[in-house]
Parts: sequence; structure tokens; C-alpha cells
Amino acid sequence: MAPAGRVGHHRHVPPDAPVLPAAALVAHLRPRKGPRSLVDTLGRRVTYLRLSVTDRCNDRCTYCMPPEGVPLDPARTILRFEEIEVVVRAFVEAGVRVVRVTGGEPLVRKGIVDLLARLGRIETPSGDRLRLALSTNGERLAPLADAVVRAGVRRINVSVDSLDPARFRTITRRGSLDRVRAGLRAVCGRPGVTVKTNTVAIAGFNDDELARIARWAWSLGAVPRFIELMPMASGRLFVPGRLMDAATIRARLAAELEARLEPVPGPEGAGPARYERVVDRATGRTMGIVGIISPMTENFCAGCNRVRLDSRGRLHGCLGADDTVDLRAALAAGGPAGVRAAIDRALARKPAGHRFARDGTGGPRKSMISIGG
Ligand code: SAM
Ligand code: SF4
Repeated sequence: MAPAGRVGHHRHVPPDAPVLPAAALVAHLRPRKGPRSLVDTLGRRVTYLRLSVTDRCNDRCTYCMPPEGVPLDPARTILRFEEIEVVVRAFVEAGVRVVRVTGGEPLVRKGIVDLLARLGRIETPSGDRLRLALSTNGERLAPLADAVVRAGVRRINVSVDSLDPARFRTITRRGSLDRVRAGLRAVCGRPGVTVKTNTVAIAGFNDDELARIARWAWSLGAVPRFIELMPMASGRLFVPGRLMDAATIRARLAAELEARLEPVPGPEGAGPARYERVVDRATGRTMGIVGIISPMTENFCAGCNRVRLDSRGRLHGCLGADDTVDLRAALAAGGPAGVRAAIDRALARKPAGHRFARDGTGGPRKSMISIGG
């Protein structure tokens, strides 16, 4: 077995050990019939798949990966596009309606636009288009924006933790705020495309910027979202004092925007984010909507509607747990029917919830970069 690479060695050579020959995979792309819902043992219906297409990233966010990087999977172990398509089709036939492509950084995967276009053509059993979403750091978004939208992506989340270029550089270790701003400008305002910004709220780092980030996102036509810091990677990158909890995020936004926050329903299939209308206290005018993702202090696991597939084809029932089921092996052994059976096995083991604790314990061994959020 080839040794795993290190971060910085971005090689996307075609895998040299295909699990199934391409012709066999193509035969599996035809629609087939089967039970059309995925319900776990707690009655939670899974309709949303987060699909990591690479473990590589062009940034090095301090809360996401250690300074020395993480071991990279050899390219031949990463799912090929044909395999991804067969697996995604199996999920869609079983009831998944939204696929969010993530990474690492998905836009560094060679041929990503072709993959998005393949996924964008998938139809649900009732003939609707699969809803295709993308989470990106935005660094490569500007030049790819037209192609990404043409491929069928209709929801785009872009991570922006600071509007101060020096701070942005500090948190991403190498990112360019100008490039990310250009990426956002390139996708905002397009008809039918929803854009959100994702900001990890970090006490003592960007807690004085949340209101500014919200106003800026609204000015672009995007929905700002603020995320509580999570203790992934066994808590190695987590500093308890840096956690800004949802109540503090709301209070800070309300004070600095001179507004009151009123809960509103999220968009359909919104998942974990709680949305709030921000209403100007003086005029009663709605300034905009914000989303808050608060796994640490307002547990939402009882309503979890998602599973996650990593770039090697391992299905994770929970962001906060290391248990996986190998769909690549299931595909090789049993084709789409084997994949479906493996998905059912994973659902039967989907944990009731994560065990993240505010002191940084309870997290999984896996890092965020390896699963994509
Ligand atoms: N590279 C893309 C990006 O940055 O959006 C997609 C992958 S990234 C892992 C997905 C999201 O996870 C980002 O919004 C990022 O800020 C967030 N994230 C990473 N590590 C986190 C942590 N420890 N706690 C909370 N959110 C985290
Ligand atoms: Fe890369 Fe996204 Fe992790 Fe930052 S948060 S290191 S951009 S994967």
C-alpha cells in the first residue's frame, strides 16, 4: 500500500485500483425500484447527504486542521466519479433529496465541475431534480462560478470567518479574503441560487465582527450563519474559552445591530441551523435573516435528517462519532443493491446524538477536514 501523503501534496491522479470496471458501473446507473425512504431506529428520516469529495484543502483553518496538516489518503483510495454517481443514485432512490458536496475543499478536486454536472442530472423517483448544494471556502469560486451554477448547484455556502484581511489570513493560515469576496460576488444575486456565509464564532477572535459580517452578507443578498466551535479531532484543536455559545451570539448580534431576534422557520430541509429574523428595534423593519448552528449548547440531534459520506466511501451516521460503513466495499461486492443494504446497516447504527462537551471532550477522533462538516 502506498504511504499516505501529507497536506500540501495535492495529487489527484486517477485511482489505479478500480473497485469495479467502468462498464459494470455504467450498468448500475439505470434507475431501479426499491423502498423509498431511509428511516433510522429512532424514526428520523434521512433526506440529506453530505458528500465529501476530497480530503485535500488549499486552506489550513486553525480549528479544522493541525499546523502540520493531516495524513492524506492515497489518491487510489478516493472514490472515482463513477462510483460516487452510483452511490448517490442509491441514496436518491432510497429517499435522499439534497446532496451537499463538501471536502476538504471540494473545488480543489480535479474535474469537480464534471462531477457536479453528473450529480446535477440525477432525478428523484418522482422525476424532480436532485437538489445540489456546495460548501466551499470560496478561494476558487470566482473562476468556477458560471460552471458550478450551470452544473445545477443551487445552494452555495461560503466560509468567511473575518472581514479583516490580516485576521482572515491568521485563521486560514494562507487564505485570501479578496479571492473569497470575489467568489461570493460571482455567485450572489443569481436567480434561483441561494447563498449563505458560514462563520465559526470564536471568542476573542471574531466576536467583535459578527454584526459587521451579518450586514455585509445581507448587502450581498446572502444569509449569514454563525457556527459554534466543535471539539473534533479528539478535542486537539479546541480551546474551551474560545467557544462562543448561541445565546451569546444572539445577544451580541441584538446589541450591536440594535435589533431584536425572532425565530423563523428555516427553509425546507434546513437541518441543524436555527433561523432568526433580525428586526430593527427603532423602526420595526426586518434587517435580514441569520442562521445559528449550535450543536454545543442547543442540541438538535433529535431532528437529524442527514448522513455523511467521506471521500473514501465510508458512510458516517453521525458527525460526532467514528463508526462507519464502507460503501465502496459494498459496491464492489454487491453493486447498488449491496450499497443499499450497507446504507440500511449504517442507519440501524446511527447514534442518537453526538457527545460534544463544552470542555472539549466527547468529540470523535476524526477531524473536520476529513468529513467536511
Ligand atoms: N472547505 C469548505 C469550507 O471551508 O466551507 C468545506 C469543508 S469545511 C470542513 C465545512 C465547514 O466546517 C466550514 O464552514 C468550517 O468553518 C466548519 N468547521 C470546520 N471545523 C470546525 C469546527 N471545529 N467547529 C465548527 N465548525 C467547523
Ligand atoms: Fe479547509 Fe474548510 Fe477546513 Fe478551512 S474549514 S481548512 S477551508 S476544509
